[in-house]
Amino acid sequence: MAQIYLDHAATTPLFPEVATAMAPFFFDAFGNPSSIYQLGTSARTAMDQARQVLASSISCHPQEIFFTSGGTESDNWALIGLAEAYQEKGRHIITSVIEHPAILETCHYLESRGFSVTYLPVSKDGLVLPSDLENAIRPDTILVSVMAANNEIGTLQPLNELGQICKRHNILFHTDAVQAYLHIPLSMASLPVDAMSVSAHKVNGPRGIGFLYIRKGVHILPLLHGGSQERGRRAGTENVAAIVGFAKAVEIHLKHGASAMEALRETRDYFIARILEEIPVARLNGSLTHRLPGNTNFSFSPLNGEALLILLDGKQICVSTGSACSSGSLDPSHVLLALGLSREEALSSLRFTLGEENTREELEQVIHHLSLEVNRLLRMKGLL
Ligand code: PLP
Repeated sequence: MAQIYLDHAATTPLFPEVATAMAPFFFDAFGNPSSIYQLGTSARTAMDQARQVLASSISCHPQEIFFTSGGTESDNWALIGLAEAYQEKGRHIITSVIEHPAILETCHYLESRGFSVTYLPVSKDGLVLPSDLENAIRPDTILVSVMAANNEIGTLQPLNELGQICKRHNILFHTDAVQAYLHIPLSMASLPVDAMSVSAHKVNGPRGIGFLYIRKGVHILPLLHGGSQERGRRAGTENVAAIVGFAKAVEIHLKHGASAMEALRETRDYFIARILEEIPVARLNGSLTHRLPGNTNFSFSPLNGEALLILLDGKQICVSTGSACSSGSLDPSHVLLALGLSREEALSSLRFTLGEENTREELEQVIHHLSLEVNRLLRMKGLL
C-alpha cells in the first residue's frame, strides 16, 4: 500500500532538485562564506544569489533578508529583537490568541521580562477583526504580530488592513508567514509589513533554514551574539547548503506559478465537498473563503481525532490532529477552542493539508478509509 501524505502544514517533501543543488556545498564547495580565498568567496556568491532569489519572491531588497534557522528563530528574533529595540517608546505588544507557539511562548517570555501583551480574539471563522486591533492599541503599544495564515485551520488574516492600522498609529507590524509564504501573494512592495518570518521546510526546502524579512530602516537588536555575519545582526556561520537549497525550492515554486496554487485550491474544495458529502458527522473548521489553498480541518464529534489518526496511519495515510508541535499531547488545540469549539469537538478534529502532488484518486482513497473508520467507531458507540 502506497503512503498518502496529507500533512504538508507539518513539513513538505524535499524537491529532488533541491538535494542536487545542495550536494556540492557538503563536498567540493564546502568553504566558509566569511573566508576570503576562492573557496570562501564562491560560497558567498552562492549565498548572495540565493538571497536575491528569496528577495525577489517577496519583492524586497536582498539586504532586507536575514537568514535564520527557521520559523521559530525568526519569530523569537522578531518579537524579542523589536521589543527590546523599541522599549524606550513603550512596552505593550499585541498579538492574536491563535498564533503558533513560537509567537505565543515568546510573548509569555516577554511578559516575564516586564512587557505587557494583549491577545486579540478571533471570529468563529478564525479571523482577527481590524476593529479589535484598533481598540487594543494604547499609547505605549510598540509592536503588533498577527500571523498571515494559521497553521491549523488555514485562515488568512486581513494583513493589509491590520498593517494599515499599525502604520497609521506608527506601530511596527510583524507577521508570521511560515504557512502563507508562496501560497498567497506576499509583496513587501505593497504590504504594510515591517518584519516577516518564513521557513524553508514548508515549501519543499530543507529543514532548519528560514529567514526574517526586516524592512529597511527598522531597528532590531540581535538575538544571537557573536560574529558579524548577516550584517552584524545574526551571528553564526551560515548554512550555505541549506540556503542554496531553500532558494532552489523557491525557484521551482515560482516556476509553477499561480496556476499551481489555483489547482491546489480546486483540489482542496473538491476534498471539502466530498468529505462533507460522505461523512455526515464531519464539520469544517475555519473559513470557507479566507483559507490557505491546501488546508482543510474537520471535527468528527463525538469521535476522537487521535483514534482516527492512528487508524488512518494503519492505512499509510499521514494526517494531523492540529499543529505537529502539539501532537502527542492530549490538550485540545488552542486554535479550535478560540473558534468556540467545545473541548470534545476540538479533540475530535483532524487536519488534512494537501500538496501539489496529491491526486484526486489519493483523496478518494482517504475518504473511503476515513468513512469506513468513522462508521465503525460510530457503530461501536451505538450511534449508527
Ligand atoms: N509558525 C508557524 C505558523 C508554523 O506553522 C511553524 C511550524 O509549524 C513555525 C512557526 C515554526 O517554524 P519552524 O518549524 O521552521 O521552526
